[in-house]
Amino acid sequence: MNVETVIVGPFEVNCYIVWGKEKQALVIDPGHDAASLEAALKSNGLTVAAYLLTHGHADHLCALADLHAACPAPFYIHAEDFKWAFGQQNQIQPYYPVPGKPATGFIQPETAEHWTIADLSFQCLETPGHTKGCVCYYFEQEKVIFTGDTLFKGTCGRTDLPGGDGRVLAKSLRKLAALPDDVTVYAGHNESTTIGCEKRTNFFMQQAAR
Ligand SMILES: [Zn+2]
Ligand SMILES: [Zn+2]
Repeated sequence: MNVETVIVGPFEVNCYIVWGKEKQALVIDPGHDAASLEAALKSNGLTVAAYLLTHGHADHLCALADLHAACPAPFYIHAEDFKWAFGQQNQIQPYYPVPGKPATGFIQPETAEHWTIADLSFQCLETPGHTKGCVCYYFEQEKVIFTGDTLFKGTCGRTDLPGGDGRVLAKSLRKLAALPDDVTVYAGHNESTTIGCEKRTNFFMQQAAR
């Protein structure tokens, strides 16, 4: 599995472009700057098979509508965040207008079933706490997880925004702590890490695992 990170927007969101042999990509959190994401897809010879959103915050999905117009594909976002992600309450001043919503393609990924898209298989783990509809996308075979704003290297997502809940987030971190230590964590901001490293060094992960 190939993973290319494109850092986008004023909040420096990690947008991940993921693909296997079939050259059909999963675009995780197209947060800003559709043109540079489209260029990254093009330079790797990729088409988009699906968009996977870890949660609804504007900085993680602002480029979705524009990129979707150029490269249409289904988009996955938890129904709890779909409710508000494309509305007025998701306007983060001064950086963004209200994020545009693609006219078609919404898929609700909340179940723990295994999804296979192109030649990639993954599970969608519900990990609420930063928002009600936060999910992580777990590629068990490749030992990779995309955690959005749930887990970062050395810390975790804030819980003071609407829908945030520290106790709920702690439960979600406990769920992540149960994954194998050698799973690579690609977070929504900052550098990547591993589950094992976070269990050893991340205060929030340690508190949650008790
Ligand atoms: Zn967020
Ligand atoms: Zn974020």
